Amino acid sequence: MSNWKLLTAAEKIAAIREAHPRCAGTATTIAAELFELHGYQVSRNAVIGIYHRYPDSLKDVPLAGLPQAAAKPLVRTSRVKKAAPNLQKVAELHRIMDAPAPVIEKLVVPESLNLSIMDLRMNSCRWPHGEKPILFCGHPDDGQSSYCAYHHKLSVGAGTLSERNVDFLLKKVA
Ligand SMILES: [Zn+2]
Repeated sequence: MSNWKLLTAAEKIAAIREAHPRCAGTATTIAAELFELHGYQVSRNAVIGIYHRYPDSLKDVPLAGLPQAAAKPLVRTSRVKKAAPNLQKVAELHRIMDAPAPVIEKLVVPESLNLSIMDLRMNSCRWPHGEKPILFCGHPDDGQSSYCAYHHKLSVGAGTLSERNVDFLLKKVA
């Protein structure tokens, strides 16, 4: 009886290459085929061992039936990195900030009536002042917007309320 253990590596590889196309290509069926062909007593693990040691010599006769996890090296995935600041958004905020200040002419700055949101009427100017609590200008609106004439002009030049809060937003995203 031929002894598998006395074969050279090249002979073992050649024997496996011979057996592979004759069977299902799994380690177990290759081992059985090697016994069938040459009487070699080879364990399933011995066949897998040859594949591990000489992968290049056997890559065109790949071992079938191995679970993916065994074939692939374990790669530890790194933790998800914290998202970088959205540079496009920061640039847009800078663009708004760098815009020239609105020119306000011939309009008297109204003294805020400091109305709370509960005190606002339908036609009260909704220009906000301060925070916690937010108080509103409260002068009669100009009939075209939610603001009095002065604050309407200011709102057109200065952008939306969220754009005016750009300082706060910049601190958040930077
Ligand atoms: Zn106003």
